[in-house]
This record gives sequence, structure tokens and C-alpha cells, in this order.
Amino acid sequence: MIYHPEIYSIKDQRMKPFIDPDEIWNLINHSKGDKKRVREIIQASLDKKRLSLEETAILINAENPDLIEEIKEGARTLKEKVYGERIVLFAPLYVGDLCTNNCQYCGFRSENKEMKRITLSRDELITETMALIDQGHKRLILVYGEHPKYSAEFIADTVKIVYGVKHNNGEIRRVNINAAPFDIQGFRTIKDSGIGTFQIFQETYHEPTYAKVHLGGVKRNYDWRLTALDRAQEAGIDDVGIGALFGLYDWRFEVLGLVRHVNHFEAVYKVGPHTISFPRVQNALKLNISKDYLVKDDEFVRLVSILRLAVPYTGMILTAREPRHIRDQVLRFGVSQIDGGTNLELGGYSKAKKDTQDLTMEQFQINDNRSLNEIMDELIKTGYIPSFCTACYRLGRTGEHFMEFSVPGFIKRFCSPNALLTLAEYLEDYAPQDTKEKGYKLIDKKISELSENQNVERLREKVKMVKDGKRDLYF
Ligand code: SAM
Ligand code: SF4
Repeated sequence: MIYHPEIYSIKDQRMKPFIDPDEIWNLINHSKGDKKRVREIIQASLDKKRLSLEETAILINAENPDLIEEIKEGARTLKEKVYGERIVLFAPLYVGDLCTNNCQYCGFRSENKEMKRITLSRDELITETMALIDQGHKRLILVYGEHPKYSAEFIADTVKIVYGVKHNNGEIRRVNINAAPFDIQGFRTIKDSGIGTFQIFQETYHEPTYAKVHLGGVKRNYDWRLTALDRAQEAGIDDVGIGALFGLYDWRFEVLGLVRHVNHFEAVYKVGPHTISFPRVQNALKLNISKDYLVKDDEFVRLVSILRLAVPYTGMILTAREPRHIRDQVLRFGVSQIDGGTNLELGGYSKAKKDTQDLTMEQFQINDNRSLNEIMDELIKTGYIPSFCTACYRLGRTGEHFMEFSVPGFIKRFCSPNALLTLAEYLEDYAPQDTKEKGYKLIDKKISELSENQNVERLREKVKMVKDGKRDLYF
């Protein structure tokens, strides 16, 4: 059943499929705009208006190189003016790679007999968490294959184990999840363990392509996956992350699918997803997909800019799948979260770092192998404020991304000071001396820029308290 606002009441749209391929193709084929129209649409986004599907399609169809530049410039301005310079850092922690599905792009798929199958024991999970705390991490995303062993209770237990690890001055303060879809009861069980965001990527919104690449297991069911985060919402998880795996089908279709997904959430649950992810397919053990839809670098940069403008309230995540030069570039177009020091090998964080990846032990290849500190150092040098802040989530201020964007002064009052406090903690506990010096210069500069802000004196006091050994201070 397809969602059409005029036909179905909002209540009826709950947990119902909402993608109409004809609607999407119609928009791609017929929504064209001249220069003036494209500029109006960019301006609407800068005026903090969510773009419609049609407006997004017009941006997608803008082929003139100058207009593409204007779209990118618009995304850059939106990012700078609205979100400021903070970049939130996290790391993925793979808990288990058993999988009963047969996704043709994924190394973990059931038919890959060469894949080493590992599920971290309680002790291994603790050891990995300690290794991540030792890097300086405060936010993790736990990742699991889809397997009866990884029940909702199992996932909830692993979340509690991670939260329970206290190590030197550190601990993990926010655990997000990327796992298979559950029923409502399952999502409730996981919610009760205190998770942050539950991420599930649709992979492709195009149903025939979905059928082609998902050849076995529960994941074959397109609708079960499409409505997964509706069930999460019904279970009380209002903090969800969506995504599409770019390279399986036409990127234009996937961008409109993602925007349609956001619309669905806003219409039905009055809150959009917290984050959007836009992974590109990377090499993996026996990767088995057509090359027809692989997304080129310039298309990738374009689609990220369009997404930024289309859904200005939604956080955007860029991972170490992308090489450094693409990460540097795309960061400017509105990405709000990146991973650092990433290692996909199960149990890999607590082992000596290897120079090459072994694809029989990892889901796919990553292309940015920098350590967390290398990334922190680079961000600081470029003038970004790396942030490990988890304050909103812990104070129950959910929808924080929306507040950042829509509540005047929210970033200055809360986000920037909290980012600086978590940066100071990092500098004290984990940074080498030269990063520490650069970091404190950045903190001083940013505090002076906040000088009209009421929290400045309290912020200076709190930074001093961090230097004196206090931890976990926030506004
Ligand atoms: N098994 C769960 C699932 O499929 O939903 C958890 C997620 S999976 C371990 C994490 C995500 O990695 C998938 O949703 C997919 O988008 C992405 N992924 C899988 N294979 C990939 C590849 N070869 N390159 C890039 N991303 C990939
Ligand atoms: Fe399993 Fe997820 Fe990989 Fe599919 S993407 S094979 S479900 S781990």
C-alpha cells in the first residue's frame, strides 16, 4: 500500500510502506527548474524550510556546472551558518558477524564460508570497549549481523556491558545500534538498555533491485525493513537513523527515497529521523553486485549537498568507508558526525594495528585508516571543533538536532560550550603534547568568540575544572 496524504489518515500510515516508485520516477523525469527556480530552492533551505520532494528533484536535475557549484555553495553556507564548526566523533564496534542473510554486497553474508565467524564474549567486549576508551572515544555504535543468536535480549545485554565499563578517566556515554529490524517488543527491550540512536539502512528504496541483491534470510522482505523504524517508534525509540547504500541503484532514486522516508516520519511521528547515512558500496569478500550504479566522486559530493539542503534538520553521518580527500571535502557540505580510529575487525581494537585489512575478517574495506588522534589533530588545525558531547541525550533533550537548528542561540548556549568541554577532556586524557597545545589554543579562540554568551564565565570555570581533574561536565 502506498502512502498518499489525501487518501490515508496519519494514523493509517503507521507501519505501512510509503515508497511509490512511480511518484519518484515522475519527479525525476519531470521536475526541472531554471536558474532562478534552483536559486529560490537553495534560498528556501537557507531560510530553514524543509524542501519538498519536487524541490529536491529539481536540485537533482540541475546539470549545469555553475548551478551544481551553487548547490554545493548553498550546502556549505547552510552548514557554516546554521551548524557552526562542530563535528561529532564516534567509532563502530562490531559485536558479531554471524548472519543468516545473503546480501550480495556484504562480506558477512551466509554464503561466504571463508568469513571467520566471531561473536565477542563478554570479556572480549569489555577489552574492546577499554581499547576504544583509551583512544578517547565516548560514543560508540555497536554493529551486529542478523542471526537468532543476536536477539533483542542479547543486544540489550551487550549495551549494558559497554555502559558498565569504567576505565581510567573514561567511559562510553552513548551507545547507538546498527542491527537487524525487530518487532515492537524487541525494540522495547533494546530501548530499555538505554540506547541512543537505532540505525537501520534500507540499502535501496527500489524494490526490484532490493530483491536482486538480497537473496536469502529475513532481510529479503522489503516491507519488513522499510517499516522497521516505524516499529522502533511504536516501541518508544524516537531517535532513529536511516540510510541508503549508494551504488546498488540510481543515486537520484535513493536520494528521493531518503527524503520520502523523512517525510513519512515527520507526517506520522512529528519527528524526523535523527540521522541520515549515505554509505557507498566498498570492496568486500566476494562482492557480487552490478557496476552499473556505482556512484562517482563528483556525484557523491553532489548528492550529499542536495541531501543537506533537502533535510536541514537531520544529522548527516560520513564514515571511514570514504578516503580522506573525500571526507575532507564532504565535511564542508553539512556532515555532522564522522568516525575516527575505525577498525572493523572483530576484536581488532585491542590488537596491534595492521597495515592491511583481511577481508575474511571484516565486513568491507575502509579507506580512511587514520587514528582518532590524527583526525582530531586535523580537525583542530582546520578550525573545526571536534565534539564527544552526549549532553542532550543524557538530559533527555531528544530531537537535539532539530533544536540546534530551530531554537535561536541553542548552539551557542549548549552545543559549542559542551563540545569545547569534551575536547578539553580529550586533550587532558588522550592527546599528545602538540595536539594538546593546538587544542587549547582553539578552545581559547572559540571561547572568545562566544563572548556575548551568558555561559562564558561558567564555561571558563568548567574548563579549569577539567584541567583540575573533573570529568563529564556539561550544560
Ligand atoms: N546486519 C545488519 C543489517 O544489515 O541491517 C546491521 C548492519 S550491517 C553490519 C551495516 C551496514 O553496512 C549495512 O546496512 C550496509 O548498508 C553496509 N554495508 C554492507 N556491505 C557494505 C559494503 N560492501 N560497502 C559499504 N557498506 C556496506
Ligand atoms: Fe548480514 Fe547485514 Fe551483511 Fe546483510 S548487510 S549480510 S544482514 S551483516
